[in-house]
Amino acid sequence: MPNQKSQAVEQIWHNDGHEIALKINRADMEIVSVFCPHEGEANCKNRLNECVVSAFILRYGMDCNAGVCDAQTPIKICWTLVGDMNSLDECQVWFMPLTDHVFSAWLESTQN
Ligand SMILES: [Zn+2]
Repeated sequence: MPNQKSQAVEQIWHNDGHEIALKINRADMEIVSVFCPHEGEANCKNRLNECVVSAFILRYGMDCNAGVCDAQTPIKICWTLVGDMNSLDECQVWFMPLTDHVFSAWLESTQN
């Protein structure tokens, strides 16, 4: 799914208040909902005013997750997108739990 060409583009991680809610279902962990904090225009909205973060995660679930954290709900996430946000088939969203140790350390280093 992630295509090689767009992986070379520098990814921008957005820390803007999106959250996911989890459910444990026997052997599986499912994402049951995605909270988008934006009502109007935002980085996560495509030209149809849909939140691509919500749409992508609800479609592909944990396959979009790039991080590690303790099980909790809700989980605050950062996200990044490569490709064309107006077509779910031509873009890729990755999310990362804010509490991922490696990621949060990296995030702090970029903000100083
Ligand atoms: Zn959103």
